[in-house]
Amino acid sequence: MSTANHARKTAPSPFQLVARHPVLDFVNTLDWRFRSTGPEELISSYDDLLRFTEQSKLLSRSEARQIRATAQPRVCRRVLASARRFREMLAAVLYSVIDNRPPEEVSLKRLSSYFHDAQDGRILSWRERRLIWTLNRRHAPEFPLRRLSIEADALLASEQSSKIRACSNPECLWLFLDTSRNHSRRWCDMKLCGNRLKARRFRRKQ
Ligand SMILES: [Zn+2]
Repeated sequence: MSTANHARKTAPSPFQLVARHPVLDFVNTLDWRFRSTGPEELISSYDDLLRFTEQSKLLSRSEARQIRATAQPRVCRRVLASARRFREMLAAVLYSVIDNRPPEEVSLKRLSSYFHDAQDGRILSWRERRLIWTLNRRHAPEFPLRRLSIEADALLASEQSSKIRACSNPECLWLFLDTSRNHSRRWCDMKLCGNRLKARRFRRKQ
């Protein structure tokens, strides 16, 4: 119990997962993406990427622990850079779709190659009396990126993709899945969005 409390005190603050889909939460990790003074990066290290995928339940705690203990710094840097490029391609495509603009051919092509890579490392396995896709251990440091890629692959070609919206607050524009019954969700999270804006204005005044 005491170690848990200690961990909580020293741990970095958790990600705000409000999008109802891990891939959209991931796109939102480049915060204030469209503001004139530049965005804010919430995935500033490979460990942030691990924390994000673990918190989003795309990575188990033991997988994250094992990767942290064994991954080479050089590999981590490469995966981090690749994950950020992947996120920005996703953002380009998704915001185009939301605005009713055709996405750029080059972004679609690059996204496809990420999806292809992620599928390449998958292994069909039998666990707890059902079939699931697992990933080859050899690719362990890439698990966060590959799991996100597999989720994005499934989301983009699904019915759910028609429910992707951007927050109505023009300074926020976080993406989310509108799962409300009458398709009326307009905000990433009304309270959180207001608070984020207030905190930002406060920082600006100082
Ligand atoms: Zn918002």
